[in-house]
Amino acid sequence: MKVVVIGGGAVGAATALFLKRQGGAAVQVQVVEPDPGLTLASSARSAASVRQQFSNAVNVAMSRFGFELLSRPAEWLAIDDGTRAQAPDLGLVRSGYLFLATSAAGARVLADNQAVQRAAGAQVQALTPTEVAARWPWLHTADLQAACVGLDGEGWFDGEAFARALAATARALGAQWLRGRVVGARRDGARLRALQLADGTRLAADAVVLAAGAWSGAVGRALGLDVPVHARKRTVFVLRCPTAIPGPTPLVVDPSGVWWRSEGAGFIAGWSPAEGDADPDDLPLDQPAMEQFEAHVWPALAARVPTFEALRVQRAWDGYYEVHPADHNALIGPHPDCPNLLLACGFSGHGLQHAPAAGRGVAEWLLDGRYTSIDLAELGAERLRSGRRFVEQAII
Ligand SMILES: Cc1cc2nc3c(=O)[nH]c(=O)nc-3n(C[C@H](O)[C@H](O)[C@H](O)COP(=O)(O)OP(=O)(O)OC[C@H]3O[C@@H](n4cnc5c(N)ncnc54)[C@H](O)[C@@H]3O)c2cc1C
Repeated sequence: MKVVVIGGGAVGAATALFLKRQGGAAVQVQVVEPDPGLTLASSARSAASVRQQFSNAVNVAMSRFGFELLSRPAEWLAIDDGTRAQAPDLGLVRSGYLFLATSAAGARVLADNQAVQRAAGAQVQALTPTEVAARWPWLHTADLQAACVGLDGEGWFDGEAFARALAATARALGAQWLRGRVVGARRDGARLRALQLADGTRLAADAVVLAAGAWSGAVGRALGLDVPVHARKRTVFVLRCPTAIPGPTPLVVDPSGVWWRSEGAGFIAGWSPAEGDADPDDLPLDQPAMEQFEAHVWPALAARVPTFEALRVQRAWDGYYEVHPADHNALIGPHPDCPNLLLACGFSGHGLQHAPAAGRGVAEWLLDGRYTSIDLAELGAERLRSGRRFVEQAII
């Protein structure tokens, strides 16, 4: 079988890795990527954090598998160069997410989520405001109703190193990387037969995997298919605070929509605006939305951590969330109008941690015709036609 993967970020690389790991020589894998330095890829511009605190058991399971690779790179991502196995340094920092609730409704959501998380094997702890204040005395807790912290399987890492390690492992197993941009396709009825690259190259394929992140909607159009995944710009602020707070802190998710965590000796923070769709071609990166800091991020941080009154922005970066607006969760599986186009896109802000589970699932589907590890059917792309929504309360 010949599989062409569109996009060489973490999701495309993980797909190539598991296709080769599970399919061996029986599957030929080519990954098409126009930007081998991943300069614009979300995989190199994310906050690179991993959590188990989702409300949907499928998302919890996917994160748990992501953490398995992150915490045991020697098992999954070591490359044997003939002398010794090289395991990549992924810079994993183990530290829980701390979700805060300031309303009765928010507290109920946290409690409901904990039941799902525990049933899926995640270790989480519900905390009263008094317990939060005792553990993190620098947090303002007077308005809190409830909180939940992850006890294991959460933290942050070097996202670009992770994407590169997935790609290097896939290449070591025999996957081939091609520098190029997919601009069209030859169809035979509903099925794709070959992909057209910008330089004129044609790549025949038995199956195609669309893992082009925030560009997936645009690539879908080039293939003649509707793939409702849109680029939305997100800015991450790198902060210094003159007064030290003992770290690593948890990754705090405030009900205001602002999140922050330790990053080395300082902090990073971000906020999710509810802006409309954007065309990545009309929305250049490297122009971070600095105005968001004064208007949204800083007021929320200073209210939650009084010491943060004195925060300074050192720098900021931006990247694209790849958003499937109907429910902000990934589309994984065959496109309803094209049975040999497998979607693996639309992950919003949790695609890096879900890349291994998505890649393994796509490989299982292509090689075995069904999911044999985590059942990803609930994320199926048939919901483009049925209108079914994947329900997840914990979107950041
Ligand atoms: C600010 C920010 C914070 C985030 N924080 C987190 C987090 O804490 N945890 C988490 O898990 N996730 C996080 N994410 C989300 C995560 O980064 C993405 O979901 C994930 O990296 C997506 O990986 P990908 O491989 O699908 O996409 P990408 O890494 O974007 O890769 C897609 C690739 O497709 C290529 N491509 C584009 N067009 C074409 C074409 N025509 N032909 C061939 N290739 C093409 C691109 O060059 C690109 O390299 C964050 C994202 C952002 C922007």
